[in-house]
Amino acid sequence: MPLETFVIVGASLAGAKAAETLRQEGFEGRVVLVGEEVERPYERPPLSKGFLLGNDSRESAHVHSAEWYEAHRVELRVGTAATSLDRAAHEAVLASGERLRYDRLLLATGASPRRLAVPGAKLQGIHYLRTLQDAAVLREALSPGGRRVVVAGAGWIGLETAAAARTYGNDVTVIEPDPCPLHRHVGPEIGGVFADLHRRHGVNLRFDQGVAGFWGAGQVSAVVTSGGAEIPADVVIVGIGARPNTDLADDAGLEVSDGVLVDASLRTSDPDIYAAGDVAAFYHPVLGRRVRVEHWANALDGGQVAARAMLGQDVVHSSLPYFFTDQYELSMEMSGLASPGDYDEIVYRGEVDSLEFIAFWLDAGRVVAAMNVNVWDVTDDLRRLIAGAVRPDPARLTDPKTPLAELA
Ligand SMILES: Cc1cc2nc3c(=O)[nH]c(=O)nc-3n(C[C@H](O)[C@H](O)[C@H](O)COP(=O)(O)OP(=O)(O)OC[C@H]3O[C@@H](n4cnc5c(N)ncnc54)[C@H](O)[C@@H]3O)c2cc1C
Repeated sequence: MPLETFVIVGASLAGAKAAETLRQEGFEGRVVLVGEEVERPYERPPLSKGFLLGNDSRESAHVHSAEWYEAHRVELRVGTAATSLDRAAHEAVLASGERLRYDRLLLATGASPRRLAVPGAKLQGIHYLRTLQDAAVLREALSPGGRRVVVAGAGWIGLETAAAARTYGNDVTVIEPDPCPLHRHVGPEIGGVFADLHRRHGVNLRFDQGVAGFWGAGQVSAVVTSGGAEIPADVVIVGIGARPNTDLADDAGLEVSDGVLVDASLRTSDPDIYAAGDVAAFYHPVLGRRVRVEHWANALDGGQVAARAMLGQDVVHSSLPYFFTDQYELSMEMSGLASPGDYDEIVYRGEVDSLEFIAFWLDAGRVVAAMNVNVWDVTDDLRRLIAGAVRPDPARLTDPKTPLAELA
């Protein structure tokens, strides 16, 4: 039987991890990894943290060394977009016109920043952050310090870039339509912790208002808020969320609805096409609902699960959503999902004011999410608490002397 060809569209974390796993699992066929960006696969978390702050090198962000691809016979086609899928012929069509035949195909096309469509949106000095190149340009803009920086959006990227901008000594204002930072991700209680953190570091936070437009002659000079205020700005960073890159799937007639719809094995409505990472909306067997997760760990794990599923193994993508951030002196990890509506109470172990604590989001007594702030080596226990649908005694849960392992 001739060797099979597996094509991976999207050369970032999910795609690169899938290629790695195919080889680890002994796949001998052809592996082609197609990426629109010119850079070989890299991880994005440093782009708003260590790389933006000038502490991490460009090289350290890469998933594999340049030599790894040849050594593992992974044909890396960077700077090449796939423009369409011909499902009947089992071919991916590239921007060059080349047609790549596949036996199985993985969509790992990720997500792109949502753009503001307001007057002045095309002025110079307005930044979005998704790629290494975006981060390099933003670093140039922030690193001299002494600039007036306005951040639109108090989500993870908005807050991390605000922290970096302050660390460089800029004057920073964050504008957010919700009543607190991270409202949709963690709710108002922990959102308030992040608001206090940023205020202590001198960030000016303005909630309940969005961006109505920008002023400037060529270069942005002010942000106009929906409340009618004008905030002077030399640099603007827009972090208002991301949109899954579903165009290829859509055009090919795959099932799409805020992401490419896949089952728990990451298989799309076409049995020879899989999707993983930010672009995939998958049925989560532990959470019992369909989710699309824009987190590093989901791309890492999902790429591996998809590769195994493409090889015919009986696997499901069941790892819990996991996220981490670093802002000033606060570093944290979070497991599970904790949007308003997912929980009815939060309880704490440790000192919230001194930023050394674990927050537990409870729904009818069951732990649905947990965040460890400047407390380490607890993630496995926290994940067991969540995955096991445990209803711990709140007194023991909040008592630092009770080992978490006993509760889990
Ligand atoms: C600045 C920043 C900071 C972050 N920090 C954190 C963090 O601290 N913690 C955390 O958990 N997560 C973080 N994330 C999220 C995390 O980086 C993403 O979840 C992860 O990158 C998703 O990986 P992916 O491989 O699914 O998609 P992506 O990383 O989006 O990669 C998709 C790739 O596919 C390419 N592509 C798209 N369409 C095509 C096409 N038609 N043909 C060829 N190629 C195509 C794109 O150009 C891109 O290179 C951060 C993200 C950003 C942007």
